Amino acid sequence: MRYLEEFRDASLVKNVVAEINRIVTHPWVIMEICGGQTHSIMQNGLDQLLPPQIELVHGPGCPVCVTSLELVDKALAIAAKPDVIFCSFGDMLRVPGSSGDLFSIRAKGGQIRVVYSPLDAVKIAQANPDKQVVFFAIGFETTAPANAMSVLQAKALGVENYSILVSQVMVPPAMHAILSSPLNRVQGFLAAGHVCSVMGYWEYPEIADKYGVPIAVTGFEPVDLLNGVLMTVQQLEAGKHEVVNAYSRVVSKEGNIPAQKILKQVFQVCDRNWRGIGTIPQSGLCLRPQFDAFNAEVRFNVGEIQTKESEICIAGQILQGIKKPPQCPAFGVLCNPENPLGATMVSSEGACSAYYRYARNESVNA
Ligand code: SF4
Repeated sequence: MRYLEEFRDASLVKNVVAEINRIVTHPWVIMEICGGQTHSIMQNGLDQLLPPQIELVHGPGCPVCVTSLELVDKALAIAAKPDVIFCSFGDMLRVPGSSGDLFSIRAKGGQIRVVYSPLDAVKIAQANPDKQVVFFAIGFETTAPANAMSVLQAKALGVENYSILVSQVMVPPAMHAILSSPLNRVQGFLAAGHVCSVMGYWEYPEIADKYGVPIAVTGFEPVDLLNGVLMTVQQLEAGKHEVVNAYSRVVSKEGNIPAQKILKQVFQVCDRNWRGIGTIPQSGLCLRPQFDAFNAEVRFNVGEIQTKESEICIAGQILQGIKKPPQCPAFGVLCNPENPLGATMVSSEGACSAYYRYARNESVNA
């Protein structure tokens, strides 16, 4: 397959690893932002190919993992209503709220549907005019344009029984939060290629300059990821902190301008609470007031939400690169994919799930 197979080529992988080995002289901590990148690294054993000086830590780019407990609890309360069809991506169904998950609501008779696109949820609303249809609109800048499109389409079609429960977050404010923390260990970033395919990477030079960190826009295949690591290590070793594009077959500096326009038409920037991390100012996207009719939080009064997080789960520290999954005392013991205590063990992009699935349960350096 053109544009894909060549980025999985074993001889190319060996060459890039050899070059990283040749140039590295110091220990460096590099964070891949995206949970999809984390899983590709683990699945392909890239972490085990790198020289011991390079430590990869895993960022907050897993939408399911960072959706706040309060919003998960609101989703559970809305989905339990008898006149509601609640639509979600499959990953969200097993994410633990304060008491139960969407599967447990389904088991009690709630109408939960797994969809692959918010536009499918609009169709469900058209087909069920006597029901309220709610889509759980989670994700980063990558999913925001499609979620915005669903609202515009519902409005254009006069579909009044459709609304979205919004948990949209943005990458650059999270990078600021990680780098400005006194506990920060990150010295370079692999930026998430799919987010940059929408937003470009014009926002990143300011971050690179402010904190003195190199940033490589990086894809998801083994050669993409290793090229991102190589371009980051080259800069770290040279004392540079520039933004480079290691995913130029997909990403341009300015990004997808029509998608950005739709996103801005429907959403506005707001503060957002990230699960396990806390509130990051101006890190979220919320529906603009003129779309209140499509805002599930406005449409449904779910009463006072009292959240209760697992006291053991350290997912927030893992998502900031401060700790790794095997450092959680519950990892693989009290917490596993069958009995998850945190969202990072459930999501297909979660770091705990990646370590469990690919058996990276060896002890790691703090
Ligand atoms: S192993 Fe489970 S309890 Fe520990 S951080 Fe991961 S999700 Fe949380």
